[in-house]
Order: sequence, then C-alpha cells, then structure tokens
Amino acid sequence: MEEIELLKKQIEQERDARMKAEALLQEQTMQLSQVKEQLHKVNANFERQIEEGDAALQQSENRYQQLIESLRDIIYKISPEGYFTFVNPVVEQVLGYDEKEIIGKHFTELVLPEYREPLVNFYWNMMKEKQGSTYTEFPVLAKDQRTVWIGQSVHLLKQDNRIVELSAVARDITEKKNTGDVLRTTQGRLAALITNLQKAVLVEDENRKVILVNQLFCDFFGIAATPEALIGTNYTESLAQVMYSFEDAEGFVQRMTELLNNQEIVVEEKLTTADGRILERDYIPIFLEGAYRGNLWEYADITQRHLSTETIRKSEEKYRSIMDNMELGLLEVDNDQRIIRAYDRFCKMIGYSEEELVGKIAPELFISKEYESVLEAEQEKRSHGKGSSYEMKLIRKDGNPLWAIISGTPIIDEYGNTVGSIGIHYDITQRKELEQELEKAKQVAEEASQAEKQFLANMSHEIRTPLNAIIGMTHLLFDTRPSQQQKEYLDILKTTADFLHGLISNLLDMAKIEDGKIEVKKKSFDLIGLLRTTQQIFKIKLGNRPITLDLMIDGQISGNYIGDDLLLNQILLNIVGNAEKFTQEGAIDIMVKVKKEEGDNCLLEFKVSDTGIGIPEEKLDLIFQKFEQVTIHGNKHKGTGLGLTITKQLIELQGGSISVKSHEGQGSTFTFTLPLQRVADGTIKKEPSADDLSVSQVLVAEDNAMNQKYISNLLNKWNIPFIIAPDGKKAVELAQQQTFDIILMDIQMPNMDGYEATIHIRNTENLNKKTPIIALTASAMIDQKNRAMAVGMNDFISKPFTPNHLLGTIQEYLNAKKAPAKEVVSSTGGKIELNRACLTEMYGNDKEYAADMFQTFLTEVVPDFGTLQGAITNEDWENLAKAVHKLKPTLAMVGLTELEKRMLDFEEKVRITPDKENLLNIWKDIFADINQSLPIIKNELAKLRT
Ligand code: ADP
Repeated sequence: MEEIELLKKQIEQERDARMKAEALLQEQTMQLSQVKEQLHKVNANFERQIEEGDAALQQSENRYQQLIESLRDIIYKISPEGYFTFVNPVVEQVLGYDEKEIIGKHFTELVLPEYREPLVNFYWNMMKEKQGSTYTEFPVLAKDQRTVWIGQSVHLLKQDNRIVELSAVARDITEKKNTGDVLRTTQGRLAALITNLQKAVLVEDENRKVILVNQLFCDFFGIAATPEALIGTNYTESLAQVMYSFEDAEGFVQRMTELLNNQEIVVEEKLTTADGRILERDYIPIFLEGAYRGNLWEYADITQRHLSTETIRKSEEKYRSIMDNMELGLLEVDNDQRIIRAYDRFCKMIGYSEEELVGKIAPELFISKEYESVLEAEQEKRSHGKGSSYEMKLIRKDGNPLWAIISGTPIIDEYGNTVGSIGIHYDITQRKELEQELEKAKQVAEEASQAEKQFLANMSHEIRTPLNAIIGMTHLLFDTRPSQQQKEYLDILKTTADFLHGLISNLLDMAKIEDGKIEVKKKSFDLIGLLRTTQQIFKIKLGNRPITLDLMIDGQISGNYIGDDLLLNQILLNIVGNAEKFTQEGAIDIMVKVKKEEGDNCLLEFKVSDTGIGIPEEKLDLIFQKFEQVTIHGNKHKGTGLGLTITKQLIELQGGSISVKSHEGQGSTFTFTLPLQRVADGTIKKEPSADDLSVSQVLVAEDNAMNQKYISNLLNKWNIPFIIAPDGKKAVELAQQQTFDIILMDIQMPNMDGYEATIHIRNTENLNKKTPIIALTASAMIDQKNRAMAVGMNDFISKPFTPNHLLGTIQEYLNAKKAPAKEVVSSTGGKIELNRACLTEMYGNDKEYAADMFQTFLTEVVPDFGTLQGAITNEDWENLAKAVHKLKPTLAMVGLTELEKRMLDFEEKVRITPDKENLLNIWKDIFADINQSLPIIKNELAKLRT
C-alpha cells in the first residue's frame, strides 16, 4: 500500500511536470507561429521585392535579416533534397558552427546517427503527405560534441504545387528535454516499481490511453503483449480480453462503466476470475487541479488470503455449530460489560435478539441482583487475564430465571491488554430447579424425621415408666402362689413385657446415637476379663443346650487396653446374643486377634461365629438396617430388628467396622474391628493387688447370691474387709451404724432399691454421707448411669464386670477419698434439712411425743398431700385453699419449715390469683420435695424411737 501511495504521488508529480512541459511547448508553438507569420511576411515581401528590383530587395532583406537575427531561434532553409541553403547566425550560438560551415551541408549530418533515419522518414512523410507544417524534436551534435536537442517547426514552400524549399525554425530545447529526461527517469523508476509490485496496475489518461501498466497486469489477464507495447494504446482495446478473464464478464464491464461514470474512489472490491481466483480491485480516478485526468486500476490476487479467512470463518462456523449443538451460548463483552456480540444460542437462552443485546450493559439487562457481586469478583479475576467458571442466575426477557454455569475467558488484544471477555453459558436451569425441589423435599423429610425421632424418644420414655411397673408387678405376682394356669399367663406377660422393655431401650439408644448423644469414653480396661465374663454369662444362659461356647484369644493380646468397655460390652452382648438366639445346636466361637499394630495402637478383630440357621444371602445387606428382621426368619424369633443397627453404629462410632458372612442353614460369622490402645506394660497392667490399700471396710449392697459370691471372692482375694447388705434398707441401716470407705450398691434390690438407699444415705444424718457410692447394674443401658449420678452416686460399674475393673474403681475412689461426696439437690435448689431449732423449741427432750407426731405425720398427713393435685385439676379453689391451710402447719411440726413457707405462698396464690397451669407447676415442685423429705423424716423417727 505504501508503494502504491508513493507511486500515485510520483504519477501526480510526473503529470505536473508534463503539464508544465506542455505549457512551455504551447508557448513556443505560439512564438513559432508568430515567427511563421513574420516569415510569411518576409517571404511575401521577398518575392514582391524580386519583382520590384534588387536594390530595394537588398535593403529590405537587410532589414528583415536584422529582425531574424534578433530572434533566439535558428532559422534556416533547406532544399527539398535536404541541403542547407540558409541559416541565421543564431546557429553559431547554439551549435558552434558558423553560417558558412553549415550552408551546403545535408541536414542529417548534424543529427545524432541513431535519430537520422526516423527524422528522414518524418520529413519524407511530411512531403509525401504535403503537410503544411510539422513539429518534431531530435538531438544534434554541436561543434564541441555536445548533444543539443532541437525542437523545430518546418514549413513547406510550394510553387505550382511543387515543393521548392523547406523553411524551419529550430530552437535549443535541451534544457526542457533534460527535464523530460528526469521525468523519463522518474517514469522509468515508477514503471520498475509498478513492475515489481505484487499488484496489477494500469494507469490510463482521460481518454483511456494507457500511460502505465505492469507485467503482472498482463499476466493477470493473459495479455500477450509486453507492458511497453501497451503504453499509448487505448485500454478499451485490451478490455475485450480482460473482461473474459472474469467469471461475470458482462458484470465486470458494466461495473467498470459505472465506476468511470461516478469517478469516485472504490477500493477492495472483490471479483472472481473465470479460473476461480479472487481479485481485489481498487479504482482511483485521477484529478489534477480539479480536472479529471485519468484512472488508476489496481488488482491484487487475494485468493490465498481469502482462502485462509474462509478457513477461519469455516472453523469459527464449525465451533459455533458445535457450541450450538452442545447448547452453549456465547457472549462477548468489553471491560465495561457492554455486549459486543451475542451468538444465536445465547439469544435463544436469554430470550433477547442480538440487536436488543448489543451495546447494552450485561448486568443491567439480565443479571440477577444478588449475583452482581459474584460477577464483579469474576470480572476482577479476568482483568488479570485469568479465566474462571462460576454459576449465576440470569433473568430472561420473559422474566423467568435462567441458571447458567459460565466459563469466562478474557479477550486479550495484540498488545497483551484485556479488552473484554467471552463467556460460554451452559443452561442448568432445569437441574437447578430440580436441585431446589430436592432441597425442599429433603428439608421436609428431615423435619419429619426429626419429629419422628422426637416422638419416639418421648414415647419411649413415657412407655418405659409404666412398663417398669408392669414388670415389677409381674414379679410380685409370681410370689403370690399363682395357679398353674396363672403362672403360664404370667410367663407370657413377663416375656412380652421384657420384649417391650428391650425394644424401648433399643429405641432410646438408637435415638441417642442418631442425635450424637453417645460419647465414646477412653479409659483403661481389662479386655480378656471382659471377654471371659461375656463367655460366662452366655454359658449360664445356654445351660444344658447342646451348644459349646469357646473363647479364642490371640497370644499377642494381654493386659489392659484403652477404649470404651461399656460400648464393647454392649456390642458383644448383641452379637453373641443373636448367635445364641439363632442357634439350635453346635458351636458358638468368639475369636479375637490383633489385626494391625503400630506402637501401642492396635486394630483388634473380633469374630463371632455360630452354627445356627444362617441368613439368606439376599438379606445380608439388610440386617444392619433399622427394623430388619421379621421378614428373614418369619415371626419365630422375637426381636426388635434394631440390635445390629445399634451395634454397627456403636462400632463405627469408635472407628471400627463390621461385616457378616453367612450361609443359610450353616451358620453365620460376624466380624468387627475396633481400634484400641494397648496400655504400656508396667503401668496398669500389673496384677492388681490391694496391698497398698488401707481399707478398713467396704459395704456391698447386693441381693443376688451369685453376685454376692463373686464379689466376696474378689474382696477376700484382695484382703479387703467387707459387709454384705442383702437389700437397700439394710444398707441404709448399716450406713447409720458404721463408717465405710466405699459402698458398692446394686440398683435392683428388694425392699429398697439402690437409688432410694443412696438418697437416704446422702440426705440423712449418718456416718456415710460422704462415702463414695458405686452403682452396680446388670443393664448396659446408657441412661441408668445418669440416674445413678443424679441421686448422688459417684460412679457406675456395669455387670458383668471384671476383677480388674472393680479393683481399679475401688482404688480410684480410695485415692480420691478426700474429694467431697456429692449431695442431692432438691428442686428448690437447696438441700432438705430439718429445722433443729424449731424441733427443739416444740418438743424439747420429749422424744416420745416427737416420735408420735412424726409417726402421725407419716401415716395420717402425708396421704392427704396426694389429694391436692386433684383439687387443682378440678379448679376447686375453695376446697384447695382450705386443705392447704390445714396441711401447712403440719410441715413445721416435723421441722420442714422451709416447705411450710412455700405452702403459705402457695395458699396465697390459690386465694388471690388461681391459675391452673401455674399452680400445678408450683405444687409439683413442693410435692416432689415433700416426697424427697420422707426418708429423712422416717430416719428421724427411727432415731427418736431408739
Ligand atoms: P433382633 O433384635 O431382631 O435380633 P438384630 O438387628 O440384632 O435384631 O438382627 C436382625 C436380624 O438379623 C435378626 O432378626 C435375624 O433375622 C438376623 N440375624 C442376626 N444375627 C443372626 C445370626 N447369628 N444368625 C442368624 N440370623 C441372624
């Protein structure tokens, strides 16, 4: 392009120069014609004077000669044969020859040799055609060998239609010619430039005469002639040939005519040639000083470029169609989020047309408000040249949401600046809506499940209390000498109630596990002892059934491990319990081995196999699921279907896993692993001994003879003195008589259970108010511990316990003997105590009277308290107030002054602002504390009687 610009400029310059030369020539021609006129006059005079006389002629000739000599042009005459007959003196100035040297010479002698023939031909032609005058230019050799260019006008002088002489006016035009040379050189350079240009160029004048053309032009259009040969010809002559080079020849000509008529620059017009090339044409009309002076035509072969843009376009098309097929919408924006381009698919997604989108600010038009900040953050990333993917909510033209995953890439210009970005949008609206629906459904399900859990937990708790009564009553009924039939009914009642109790305990455990309320304790325990106890328990249970129960322990296992023995115990009871339940005969084996060991960290594998009925293969996956049992073995086996679910969860809670292998009819093997930490040798592992214990006495409250025996054996072995109390009542009595270092308290005992006995010991005057009390319970139920703690016990050992476990606990509490024992706190927040001052004031030393009052209180008054709740429920305020008023002072009579005050407040409320709900709440608190105080009162009564 630069070349062509230069070329155009040079052409213009050349045109300027040419115009100047033409103007000069014109001027000269004018001068010449003046000279001619003068010559004519001279001649005419001359001829006339010949007739008039020689003298006059001479005179006149002199005069005109002077005139001629004053001119700066050479004026000469030659004969028709070409010999000089006359020349004026100017010739000497111009060529260095004097007149004499010239006259008689043939004119060609002066002309440069190579110009002689054309010049002779020129004049020959002139004479032949009898042209009156001509003008031509040619170089002559001056006397000093300089080349002098002559421009001359020649006139024929005829007489009787015969040429007699030629007269000429010749002028030195060297200077002008040289300018012409410069022009020619320029022209030559331009031609060379044009020749070498990669464009076909043709310059023509206003008459369509070719001024410049290059080889490429000839090549493009298959013109056989050389470019030089074309110069000077009329372009329209080549047109016939050129037009057929184009696919649409007619159209080409028509367009050319149009361009020539309009005379306006038209560039980069595409034309297809007949042989399939693509040409690009520039048409430039040439104007000089406002006048139209010709045209410049340029043709460039852009076939290659066209093909590559075509290739790019096609590949773009290809990718676009891929994107369209993949349902990807493309959008290009600048750095201000102004839309530059929106592709079809995107338009369809968003519902706007491309025209509606281009030029708009994307976030203003369709990005959901809450996502603007997301977009800003992404934009920030992209401004640093980073691409990213993100999810966004857009608003379609119809107002509906369009959820899209957008993959954005910055658009970088050739200088490395980010000028915008292109986003590929993938429509995920359907998926998103589905997700949202699922989320809602999940929430509903979760709420329902939460409610279900809550309900289950509440119900289980509510059911358990009366159930305990049923079970208790059933036991009592067994002692009432029932008939054989009644015994059978009682058996069914007991089994059913036991089953129900088991189910409810499981449900409660389940709820606790699911609520994350179970905590895995980490403490040292005797693993082998625990396993042996388990074996022992089941041996007793199996009795005479033809089933062996063996325990196989890996030799690597010894001593204590740190973990939760309570949970392990529950797991073993469940799994071995199932084996026992589903096996008629054969063997149950319990195997334990070390599966992995890293330092003290062991992974133990427990295997319980049986030769029972087995589990059908297709049900194996189900047995760990909740309530899965009934369908497996029919209704034959009573169970809750929760045991294994709980077991599995307890195992996983501790970081272990469980699996099962079984063949129907051949038996089952349950394998579970548990990570346990081995207690380094020499710490707790050492054979337990009571040597270092200075124990004076231990109280063992236990009704079961077998347990009594088990514990007595151990205590004897450790040389620990002890006394056994067969029930709670006896334990309380003993606690009043002597001080113990520790009390081991069974929970289920006749006459008075462990909880009640503990309440007595903790809340009445006795020697063991602060003695550690350890609960012994056969149930692994987790919430029993809480209850034990609540009544004031210090710890909890679940039966069956190992010797080590028992000794460890005894040691622990003896060492911490100084730590204060727990106290039960009444619902008022204060401890129930008898007001001694008040009692002394009332009874002095009259113990008998006091005992009488206390006894009356217990037998006559206490039952009356039980009637108040009914009065509240019936809103019988008048009678209630009367009853409260009557009962109130009796409390003070047994030293319960604190409670008397609360009764006074209560009475006031009943009289002034009776509100059922409120009164019920207050009353329940008071009533609970009255009941809590009963053992204290009874205890006091006992003391008064001694
Ligand atoms: P269940 O309280 O009913 O025993 P589990 O969750 O403990 O509930 O057991 C689920 C079911 O798996 C049982 O009802 C029984 O069908 C099957 N099952 C468990 N252990 C065994 C076993 N050792 N042999 C055969 N079947 C078993």
